[in-house]
Amino acid sequence: MKCYCVVNFKQALQQMDAPNPVPKGAEVLLQVRAAGVCHSDLHIWEGGYDLGNGKTLSLKDRGINLPLTMGHETVGTVIAAGPDAKSVTQGKNYVVFPWIGCRKCVACLEDMENHCSAPQYLGVYKNGGYADHILVPDARYLVDIGDLDPAIAAPYACSGLTTYGALNKVGAKTYQKHPIVIMGAGGLGLMCLELVKALGGAGAIVVDIDPVKRQAALDAGALAAIDGNAPDAAQQIIKANGGKMVQAVIDLVGAPNTTQIGFDSIIKGGKLIIVGLFGGASPWPIAFIPMRAMNIIGSYVGSLQEFHDLMALVKTGKIKPIQVTRHDLSQADAVLSSLRQGKVTGRAVLTA
Ligand SMILES: [Zn+2]
Ligand SMILES: [Zn+2]
Repeated sequence: MKCYCVVNFKQALQQMDAPNPVPKGAEVLLQVRAAGVCHSDLHIWEGGYDLGNGKTLSLKDRGINLPLTMGHETVGTVIAAGPDAKSVTQGKNYVVFPWIGCRKCVACLEDMENHCSAPQYLGVYKNGGYADHILVPDARYLVDIGDLDPAIAAPYACSGLTTYGALNKVGAKTYQKHPIVIMGAGGLGLMCLELVKALGGAGAIVVDIDPVKRQAALDAGALAAIDGNAPDAAQQIIKANGGKMVQAVIDLVGAPNTTQIGFDSIIKGGKLIIVGLFGGASPWPIAFIPMRAMNIIGSYVGSLQEFHDLMALVKTGKIKPIQVTRHDLSQADAVLSSLRQGKVTGRAVLTA
């Protein structure tokens, strides 16, 4: 098999070759059809997160060993399966749930593997989809995609599940009654907009600093698109919401500026769901958190059950596919560079 790997942090991905693994137990070997290139791959490639105040979180210290094949949005065709992988059929296409846990810790035993304390996430801690083959440790992590286009289905494993998980934290009662705010109109933002529509939401006001992305959000049905660099961005959000402060903000950027705008536009008792990992230090005065009864909630992807629920919704055809751009697997490094330069609209997907 051939993969495009991070060999050194912040350096070009390198093509590496290895013999195809032979699946044992419940393991499954898939031939990769599509691998989404996610913004969080940039953090892995850089080797850390900015924690603000001059501190960084080193991924090396968190147990990420190189070389690593990134790619956590993967669709593949089953070509071999271990004797215990009974739930999959050779030749069929599956999307991989990559947020795999240890199956032993408290979170895993509650079926919240995405909160595992010893995560085994594919494309983060274990080899992922920037390759022509992927070994999945258990058939239970595969969801049949039927006739769906692999390039359209792959991004549901991260951008779909992440936004679905965040919307579940907002709660259907809230998003079906009130418009919400989505910070960031990249791949995640557009996915979130589509999910809001498919789930019967009251719509979303989108914030982005890039006029091209704001236009993409308007084209995708956003109620309004506001420039996050405007000094009165929070006031513009409130105006777009009919003069009322908003019930919930999903911050897909997670920078000091975006969380501040969110904080300033949320009603008392509302929810600020932080998803993005841009990083930096939190800018809000602590006393305002109790005074405004603010719910500040972190959201990290979603559970396997949420993934099944999401894929069931996808299969009803209610979610309009987001814009994807397809690139040959051999272009993995170039695609990652374009994403780093902010040149990707919608989702870039490597296809083989
Ligand atoms: Zn991702
Ligand atoms: Zn665990």
